[in-house]
Amino acid sequence: MDQPLYIAGPCSAESLDQLIAAAHELNGIPFKYFRAGVWKPRTRPGSFEGHGIKALPWLNEIQQKFGYKIAIEVASALHVEQALKAGIDAFWIGARSVTNPFTVQEIADSLRGVNIPLFIKNPVNPDLKLWIGAVERIEHASKAQIHAIHRGFSVYEKLRYRNDPNWQIALDFKIERPDLPLICDPSHMGGNRDVLLELSQIAMDLHFDGLHLEVHHHPQSALTDAEQQLTGKELNQLLSNLRLRNRVDLSNQEILDLRIKIDSLDSQVLQILAERMKIADQIGQIKAEHNTTIYQAKRWKELKEKNVRIAETLGLSEEMVSQLLKLIHQEAIRIQASYL
Ligand code: PEP
Ligand code: MN
Repeated sequence: MDQPLYIAGPCSAESLDQLIAAAHELNGIPFKYFRAGVWKPRTRPGSFEGHGIKALPWLNEIQQKFGYKIAIEVASALHVEQALKAGIDAFWIGARSVTNPFTVQEIADSLRGVNIPLFIKNPVNPDLKLWIGAVERIEHASKAQIHAIHRGFSVYEKLRYRNDPNWQIALDFKIERPDLPLICDPSHMGGNRDVLLELSQIAMDLHFDGLHLEVHHHPQSALTDAEQQLTGKELNQLLSNLRLRNRVDLSNQEILDLRIKIDSLDSQVLQILAERMKIADQIGQIKAEHNTTIYQAKRWKELKEKNVRIAETLGLSEEMVSQLLKLIHQEAIRIQASYL
């Protein structure tokens, strides 16, 4: 079983003493990079924005005293230049920066010819192309060893997690770029230490290659992201509760037989959908002949309610069935609109 790649450390580099305390917290934990934000992108001005260049020698001290490899966030060519000069070992590009192709391009150009581990977070908005685009900008310009970090997507109203995991986008990223390691960042996704184990477990079950978790010696007094940081002891606990699964693709006879059944059912589902759309097409012609509207709210409401009830008796989730019906309905409307 491959050991996941762990990145751990405080949200921000607050002082040399705080970094040393966080470094001690991580003693004995098998992490690869010690993270600490030096330039902190904040959504609104007025809160702690990092110590900037002043914090770089503190991180050098952590490298020397503890032998840890250090990762920091870079958001401009100047950050890259200063961090490279200071001998920082790895960089990440934050979610806000990844939304801006000009910023990503500037960072890419400043990394020309540089071979350094670079972690690219997903953009704050759920846009797979923007995320992949950032990867491409970096790989066209530099020799950086690219990793992706999934940290979820901004939402207007916080539900259980601060950011919506929308796991499907991360899985689609994996399909497009199976060559790149994909790390999950439960800390920024969850925004709260109580949900970190469940998010970490989902990530491991989905075959992510590692985890990024924030650690502070005294989380309550952290200058940034206080609610989500763990002590070293809590991180240890989380990692020992985590179930790591075998990462090989099973191909024993039992699975192969079941997959044959799945493939046959999938093709039946498609045939039934095609038949359904043909009928929607016939109805579309009749509606056009009678000059009636395509969308009929009462019929749609009844159809949805009836099928959600049936789905429940079949043990299917309401969310999945509602989304599926919505997609089918949209497609039927598109077909019928061709008669207008
Ligand atoms: C961070 O990792 O410090 C950070 C600001 O995260 P994100 O870019 O994911 O919001
Ligand atoms: Mn943080």
